[in-house]
Amino acid sequence: CGIVGTIGTSQSKNILLKGLERLEYRGYDSAGIFLSEDGSDELVKSVGKIADLEEQIAPEMSGTMGIAHTRWATHGQPSIENAHPQFSTSERFYLVHNGVISNFTQLKEQELAGTTFVSQTDTEVIVQLIAKFVEQDGLTTLAAFQKTLGLLEGSYALMLVDKENEEQLYVAKNKSPMLIGLANGYNIVASDALATFDVTDQYLELHDGDFAVVTKTTVSVFDQDGQDVHRAPITIKIDH
Ligand code: GLU
Repeated sequence: CGIVGTIGTSQSKNILLKGLERLEYRGYDSAGIFLSEDGSDELVKSVGKIADLEEQIAPEMSGTMGIAHTRWATHGQPSIENAHPQFSTSERFYLVHNGVISNFTQLKEQELAGTTFVSQTDTEVIVQLIAKFVEQDGLTTLAAFQKTLGLLEGSYALMLVDKENEEQLYVAKNKSPMLIGLANGYNIVASDALATFDVTDQYLELHDGDFAVVTKTTVSVFDQDGQDVHRAPITIKIDH
C-alpha cells in the first residue's frame, strides 16, 4: 500500500519510519523495513502500528540505505510472513510491492516449480523469479529485474535490494504510483510525495512500464524496452 526507500543517507531509519507514518492514513494491516549499514543488515516486520516496528529495530542501526512498506493485503492474510519486504530463498534479494500480480499462480507453476515459498503473497513470486534468473541462469540483477518485469501482469510499484550490491535500488512502476525524489546528497523513492515532502520537492515521475536504477547520486531510467529515457524533474509541493 505504501513504499519508501532511501539510498545514501545515514538518516535512513528515521526518514523511512517517518515516511511510513505519513502513509498510515491510507490504511494498512502490517508493515516492514529492511535496513543496511556497513555490511550488516536487519529485516523487521510487524502486524501492527509503525511504532511497534520501530521498537523492534536495533537502536544502533541507523541505516545508510533501506526499503520500507505498509501492506494492505490482497493475497494472503495479514501476518509476519506475508508482510513485505518479501525475500528470496537465498536471502540475497529483498522486495517491496504495491499492487496485484494477476498471473502469479501461473508464474509459480510455470517458472518456479520446486521453489519453497514462505508466504502466500503474489509479491514473493516476483522476488523468487529475480533470484532464479540471477542464481540459476547467471543474469545480472538488472537483466533479471527487467526479464521478470516482462513476465508480470497486473499492477505494481516495486523496489528491490540486492544484498551483494547495496549501492543501488532497483525500482519499477506499472499502474501504481512511484516517484523518485532527489534529495540533498542522496535519493529517496516513494509511492506518494507525502512520505518525503520534508526532504525534497524535486521528483522524477516514472511512466507505466519504466524501471530505474537509483544510487546515492544518480538515477538511470529505462522504458519497458530497456532503452534509456530522460524523465524531467517535476516540483511537487505539499502544504502541511
Ligand atoms: N498484493 C500484495 C500483497 O498482498 C501487495 C499489497 C499492497 O499493495 O499493499 O502482499
